[in-house]
Amino acid sequence: MKHIYLDNNATTSMRPGVLEAMTPYFLEKYGNASSIHWFGQEAKAAIDDARSQVARLIGAQATDVVFLSGGTEADNFAIRGIVESQKSKGRHIITSQIEHHAVMNTCKDLEKQGCEVTWLPLNRDGLLEAEQVRAAMRPDTVLITIMHANNEIGTIQPIEQIGQIAEEAGVFFHSDGVQATGKIPVEVKALKVHLYSMSAHKLHGPKGVGALYVARRTPVKPMITGGGHERNRRSGTENVAGIVGFGATARLAREGLADQMVRIGEMRDDMEARLKAAMSHIHVNGEDAPRLPNTSNIMVDYAEGEGMVISLDLKGIAVSTGSACSSGSMEPSHVLTAIGKTPDEGFGSLRISLSDLTTQDDVDYLVEVLPGIVERLRELSPYYKK
Ligand code: PLP
Repeated sequence: MKHIYLDNNATTSMRPGVLEAMTPYFLEKYGNASSIHWFGQEAKAAIDDARSQVARLIGAQATDVVFLSGGTEADNFAIRGIVESQKSKGRHIITSQIEHHAVMNTCKDLEKQGCEVTWLPLNRDGLLEAEQVRAAMRPDTVLITIMHANNEIGTIQPIEQIGQIAEEAGVFFHSDGVQATGKIPVEVKALKVHLYSMSAHKLHGPKGVGALYVARRTPVKPMITGGGHERNRRSGTENVAGIVGFGATARLAREGLADQMVRIGEMRDDMEARLKAAMSHIHVNGEDAPRLPNTSNIMVDYAEGEGMVISLDLKGIAVSTGSACSSGSMEPSHVLTAIGKTPDEGFGSLRISLSDLTTQDDVDYLVEVLPGIVERLRELSPYYKK
């Protein structure tokens, strides 16, 4: 059976060239970048090179990029680091209701520790208006954290306008850019963010390595203390091979970005049009909002998401659903709930996410198989009328 991977917002495979770039750093170039001898300096040079590549992908200076273990750590470091450094000024945070758990649960944890958090609501397309941020601003606001692109529906928030508001108010602004990096052009200076989170495994790099952009003179208190690595911002011997892999994939993503955005976007739009033509009662979440070109979140009435995912899996196609099964109980996705979907609607949603390595044949196979699966599942629904 062929296996088709259309769950690239969960993770991606490494692209050709990345493993080859990493391999020497496991074998003959295994030095510790803090060592002063030749092996150490070779590792340090490789990290510096990767730092420049990651910085170029987001229009930053290399010295403003801190390597760490991934998107979750980047979000934690940014949010906790600012809150800690600003605690004498205030404890109010502004965020949205559709953040990734790495941001959402960090803010909830800070709420328990005495911070006040404003959770901004979204419209039905999953979009915020920048003016909502201005209206939520208080004298004790120390941080705004709003994601750039959403992992479930792909909607892209007006980060530049929010950045302008943050700048006028003199408040630090973090954006979780884990899903946006490498998929759409990112210029951190134009976005006016102080902090921007990235994760290599979402853009065809290795897992367990990420980066946080920290604009100059942004006072983030380190979360992990030790030997003072990463210019005292994140201690711990660097994951040299992982960082090299991140650098390699960042370069390839930047070089291919303009072409891939068009190719993937056209493939996704065509897929959505064909699915709509083949099935009744389906809607695309966030369809009218600016969206990542690779992401499609479709709501299929009278068919259950888990059933669709499992049936597709049996046909060799990997996608995901908008609901998450946690501790035995089925929870609708907080993102779909925040954009006004009922639990029933949330349970019928499917996330299909493409990547630089997705082919037209992959998408054609999904379009061929999904309508039959939906028809069979709908026949089990007492509410379904053709
Ligand atoms: N933020 C967003 C928007 C994500 O999609 C993810 C991963 O799913 C993360 C953060 C966490 O990244 P990581 O898996 O590198 O910890």
